[in-house]
Amino acid sequence: MGDIKYNRIILKLSGESLSGEDEFGLDLSGIDPLAKEIKEVLALGVEMGVVVGGGNIIRGAQASKQGIDRVSADYMGMLATVINALAIQNYLEQSDIDTRVLTAIRMEELAEPYIRRRAIHHLAKGRLVIFAGGTGNPYFSTDTAAVLRAIEVEADLILKGTNVAGVYTADPKRDPDAEFIPRITYIDVLKKGLKIMDTAAISLCMDNGLPIVVFNLSEIGSLRGILMGERVGTLVEE
Ligand code: UDP
Repeated sequence: MGDIKYNRIILKLSGESLSGEDEFGLDLSGIDPLAKEIKEVLALGVEMGVVVGGGNIIRGAQASKQGIDRVSADYMGMLATVINALAIQNYLEQSDIDTRVLTAIRMEELAEPYIRRRAIHHLAKGRLVIFAGGTGNPYFSTDTAAVLRAIEVEADLILKGTNVAGVYTADPKRDPDAEFIPRITYIDVLKKGLKIMDTAAISLCMDNGLPIVVFNLSEIGSLRGILMGERVGTLVEE
């Protein structure tokens, strides 16, 4: 067995990855392979956190088009991430994964408040930390929250799960000429407008030298491969 390349990682899990075949709602059956992989990763001694999105329930920008003011709509989106976090926690606990939910918006009855030192403590104990509530601020995304948490807890890598192998020159599901990109710089992601994470998140990674790996969530073994330094997915770095 090779050496482990990354010791502390943060996975950004979008709301969409929790809605199964549908675009909306909750259907966690699809994350079964991921639960197995997370268990394997923790068993390797790698510390792992998950930042959950809420797009399967509500997105602030979209909701505000229906007349809800943007700030309220964004808080609704942040609440949606808490719903998802509790769902994932329950689901993963059934696979005997020790988890803690930490939320940026205080809800003591449901979850611990996000406190950086506490997050690091849980990680060091080998618990899967599920970060909910985004950054706790409107006008941000959970992509930015994921990068922020990764930097705060001094993670070595941020992982962005998708439903294709990584980053392509165009949408591979629509364009047969789309080419796979194995490695790309932050600045090229921004210049080319590639939809990996929003620009705030990419800029934060760039400013803090945090590498991103974009990979296929449903491909068994990919998480482990990435940790072992195999060429899986697309690496975004300097
Ligand atoms: N949100 C926010 N601040 C944050 C994180 C999220 O206001 O720090 C809101 C925002 O309205 C967003 C929604 O929560 O649309 C759900 O998060 P996101 O769209 O990032 O979820 P994903 O697309 O990953 O499912």
